[in-house]
Amino acid sequence: MFSSVKQFINALLHINFEDEFENDLNQKHVVNFSYMIFCVGCLLLIAVFTFRQMYSVTILSSLSLLMALVGLRYNLIGHFFKAQILMPIIKIAQTAILSLFYFGTASGFHWFFISVIAYAFVVFRTDRQAVKYWVVGISLALFLVCELTHTNGLYLSSADQELSIVLVFFAVTFNFAMVINLVISRLKSVNHHLRILAEKDELTGLSNRRKVLADAVNIFADSVINRESCVFCIVDLDHFKKINDTFGHEAGDLVLAKVSAMMASVIRLQDEIGRYGGEEFIVIMRSTGIKEATEMMEHMRQSVEDMLIETENGIVIPVTISIGLAGIDPSVSRYEEILAQADKGLYVAKRSGRNRLSVQSDYQH
Ligand code: GH3
Ligand code: MG
Ligand code: MG
Repeated sequence: MFSSVKQFINALLHINFEDEFENDLNQKHVVNFSYMIFCVGCLLLIAVFTFRQMYSVTILSSLSLLMALVGLRYNLIGHFFKAQILMPIIKIAQTAILSLFYFGTASGFHWFFISVIAYAFVVFRTDRQAVKYWVVGISLALFLVCELTHTNGLYLSSADQELSIVLVFFAVTFNFAMVINLVISRLKSVNHHLRILAEKDELTGLSNRRKVLADAVNIFADSVINRESCVFCIVDLDHFKKINDTFGHEAGDLVLAKVSAMMASVIRLQDEIGRYGGEEFIVIMRSTGIKEATEMMEHMRQSVEDMLIETENGIVIPVTISIGLAGIDPSVSRYEEILAQADKGLYVAKRSGRNRLSVQSDYQH
């Protein structure tokens, strides 16, 4: 029940949100949220004042509700600026009329102008500075008018007005809390997205060089501290230049993507793999001895050799990989040294005929 309500609210928040990361950080969410909250507020006013038979408030609130639905529809059909600007207009008009003429300034209703100001700061950015200052200026002026004048209003007794102050206080606070919450959750998701962009290689979907080298540093340090073995491998596609030359660069990209997916599928959960550059990859195996690592990488080599990668014309592209392995060694003090040893292993594997692996570590675990 709760999760379906949450899903429904989320769907409303995402009205007309196509690519969320191309859009401004949180404008659309805040606009949609403001309309939702405003509609709920209008419905409450309609219910309360119909019950009290004060129909002019009911009529005014119904009109506001109607306008808010128009605003939501603007958002739905992509007229975002109209939706953005209509919200403060309705809210300012409704708050001013209700505060000055219906409820009396002692009801505290004019504090809703503060949420209009907050809305303007979140929603109108540099390209709409003028609109922002107009909305803020008008809200502030009307707020001051309400604060400095004293009108009794038509409908609320002073006891009602006291109750109203409390309700308005809760409503404005809730509004603020929700807007801040929206802004923070948007920041978090954008942050997550940026992090993925910064760590992932676009073509292969594997970790990029920066990320896999950071993993290498961490895993090496952990292994030294815990006195555990770990193995670094460098994998290089054989004669890849020839694949590009023969089948085209696009086919080369396809091979890179498919081989990457295969390699990622044969490593264990605890292992890391990333694209070191071009057609070279690094595999890091924590808590693993050379023997076990050799078996695993041999399995990887065989799996790649057995792959059937076809071009669009149905021609099978033969692919093989060469692998250099090196394990942590008591004499090694920096991860770059193991990487250099693995590179040496790769060189040996290439020189002795490719499609094979070579271990560069005297220290067997
Ligand atoms: P070896 O067996 O000795 O490794 O030979 P090789 O041809 O694989 O190695 P070489 O370093 O001569 O060539 C690597 C080629 O990989 C050259 C480069 O154009 C190609 N390459 C690097 N990155 C990409 C990529 O993202 N896409 C494609 N299609 N080709 C790439
Ligand atoms: Mg190569
Ligand atoms: Mg290479």
